[in-house]
Amino acid sequence: MQSFPHTFKPLDLGFTQIKNRVVMGSMHTGLEEADNGFERMASYFRERAQGGVGLIITGGISPNFSGRVAPHSSQLSFPWQVGKHKIITDAVHETEGAKICLQILHSGRYGYHPLCAAPSKIKSPISPFTPRALSTWGVKKTIRDFANCAKLAQKAGYDGIEVMGSEGYLINQFVAPRTNKRDDQYGGDINNRIRFPLEIIDAVRNKVGKNFIIVFRLSMLDLVDNGSTWEEVVMFAKALESVGVDLINTGIGWHEARVPTIATMVPRAAFTWITEKLKQEVSTPLITTNRINTPEVIEDVLSSGHADMVCMARPFLADPHFLSKAANGKPEAINTCISCNQACLDHVFQQKISSCLVNPKACHETEFIATDSFTSKQKTFAVVGAGPAGLSFAIEAAKLGNNVTVYERNDEIGGQFNIAKEIPGKEEFKETIRYFNYHIESLGITLKLNSEVTPDNLIDSYDHVIIATGIRPRVPDIEGIASPKVLTYQDLLWKKQAVGQTVALIGAGGIGFDAAEFLAHDHNNLPTSLDKEAFFEEWGIDTSYKNRGAIKPKVSESSPRKIYLLQRKTTKMGKGLGKTTGWIHRQSLADKGIEMISGVNYKKITDKGLVVTIDNKETTLEVDNIVLCSGQLSNNELYHSLKKHQDNVHIIGGASLASEIDAKRAIDEGIRLAHTLAQ
Ligand code: FAD
Ligand code: NAP
Ligand code: SF4
Repeated sequence: MQSFPHTFKPLDLGFTQIKNRVVMGSMHTGLEEADNGFERMASYFRERAQGGVGLIITGGISPNFSGRVAPHSSQLSFPWQVGKHKIITDAVHETEGAKICLQILHSGRYGYHPLCAAPSKIKSPISPFTPRALSTWGVKKTIRDFANCAKLAQKAGYDGIEVMGSEGYLINQFVAPRTNKRDDQYGGDINNRIRFPLEIIDAVRNKVGKNFIIVFRLSMLDLVDNGSTWEEVVMFAKALESVGVDLINTGIGWHEARVPTIATMVPRAAFTWITEKLKQEVSTPLITTNRINTPEVIEDVLSSGHADMVCMARPFLADPHFLSKAANGKPEAINTCISCNQACLDHVFQQKISSCLVNPKACHETEFIATDSFTSKQKTFAVVGAGPAGLSFAIEAAKLGNNVTVYERNDEIGGQFNIAKEIPGKEEFKETIRYFNYHIESLGITLKLNSEVTPDNLIDSYDHVIIATGIRPRVPDIEGIASPKVLTYQDLLWKKQAVGQTVALIGAGGIGFDAAEFLAHDHNNLPTSLDKEAFFEEWGIDTSYKNRGAIKPKVSESSPRKIYLLQRKTTKMGKGLGKTTGWIHRQSLADKGIEMISGVNYKKITDKGLVVTIDNKETTLEVDNIVLCSGQLSNNELYHSLKKHQDNVHIIGGASLASEIDAKRAIDEGIRLAHTLAQ
């Protein structure tokens, strides 16, 4: 049995023990402000506590009004607010040894409202609001507000607090010369710039006493111009140690940094080296973070001495029972976070409740009956199609005690995830296929590969038939489309059909961008997602820390072929991509020299290439190949022909609606249908 001894070793803080080395990091989920939000958060955190996490940190809560992230965001400043928080702490403490800290976050100039305040009156590049500069009195008042918030957290039953000092929020804005131009005792040299956070910790400790955990999230890499130097980070960490913080957590990159820090193309554990560097300087236990998503990586990070604890946030959305599965020696059972951001961070930016692409129950716990407490008559289900929609249905229905058979026409499961995982930087998608495979076997689901279902060959003895047959690529009506130069994205990415040195991609949605990324690499010399050095070079991360903020000029490999990425719309390229990741895809292609053209009108395909008009001017893009990434159509013929004769047929995923189908919707539909039909 695989074991993880460093992960499950308790950490003694003197006055208290944390039962293992894993922290669930702070995530704003939107539940903080939702109807019945505290009851829902209680269910959400209860399940993670039951799943074995050592220490939970809540989403950021502001200590006063000006520190709110948005006008309606959460704040803890008044005694009448304590009762609500108690619902959460009671739920967590139902599990023996589970601990929870409240994160106190003042957003400073990132506050999305006109009353935001900062050390100096300097607008952030990612906010429309210019902050007011806090007066010296205002700084001192803010320090008192932090201490008051911590005291209220203690009254609410929290085991401690985390002071958010990174990601470019208020405290980080005081510490870095980039945003602190003050001329009072809180600005100027580093001793003055760190005075604000040190006085906060001092004031908090005075209010809460000794036996209360104080975590400080320290920005170890700002990744912006005029951020901190390494010497300043060390000096600050030592000062934090002397004022009595119990744990120092790692912060990587300001929100305005143009460096990906958690997206899927960031190599696993890419930033633990910076925590290790600080470990040489301080003795306070250090927590490391960012792109750690498997028990093997946690164990490796801890056993190689990079940190005393590991902080993961999104992996606990993907699987609340991550740690109990690891503790039971079943890491393959874990539903791995693929770092897509699609249902977590992207939702936050769209003012929706966070969830998880691979686990749509996350933050919606109260909408689902627990699978282990569900009892109903065992039913039989046939699922046609082993893509994300069909498999999420199959696994959930089997967990609910039903008898499931899956038919798949290919020789492998996974549907289009088999293509997605081929894109450089999206290798994590293979983990979802691994998770599906594990549970097909562990739940005794009957899997019939190489089994194409037609209206004639499906055995009709099932209680329900679920059609999850996905999509097929749309072939646009362009003169010459039958040319041998033309191939679909499936021909390119699945069948690995060869293409020449010049390629035009018709369609610039998610798949167009992915196909361009695929073509922009030399496939004889593909970097893997473990290639940290290539990642640091591509995004200009200065691991020698010679420069303030640890950034340096980027060094990008240009594409080995000439690529045109085309769309008819005149809007910005990649506008429909993920809110928090679209800029990374655009930047990555631009850096590799891909030509992205909007407002294209396709005229015809000739032996020479693709004839188009751009700005009413006709031109021929002389290309060897044209790859169709022009959307998709539902594979729904089987459904319609079965539905004529049977009522017990249901359709989900791309087969149901091809327009804008993504894995988030496919998996969500599968799981929800399983709960509906199992009742
Ligand atoms: P599919 O994945 O298409 O699965 C359908 C399955 O049914 C297939 O395995 C097929 O072989 C089988 N089948 C069809 N007909 C029959 C039959 N008659 N009998 C038996 N079996 C049959 N989505 C995201 O959310 N995020 C991403 O980052 C992302 N990246 C992508 C990158 C690429 C390159 C591609 C191509 C897609 C990407 N997607 C992404 C889209 C995502 O993969 C799809 O939305 C999702 O797979 C749809 O799931 P599905 O189960 O409905 O269909
Ligand atoms: P898509 O995002 O809808 O893009 C389709 C593209 O085809 C558009 O650029 C569209 O642009 C073009 N198009 C549509 N009809 C056309 C026609 N008749 N002729 C020529 N061009 C046409 O869909 P997709 O790229 O196929 O992706 C499918 C789904 O997978 C998406 O919903 C996406 O969410 C998901 N996905 C997500 C990611 C991710 O990173 N999150 C990655 C890959 C896929 P114009 O109409 O302007 O030409
Ligand atoms: Fe991870 Fe994607 Fe789920 Fe977010 S939505 S937790 S990034 S798998």
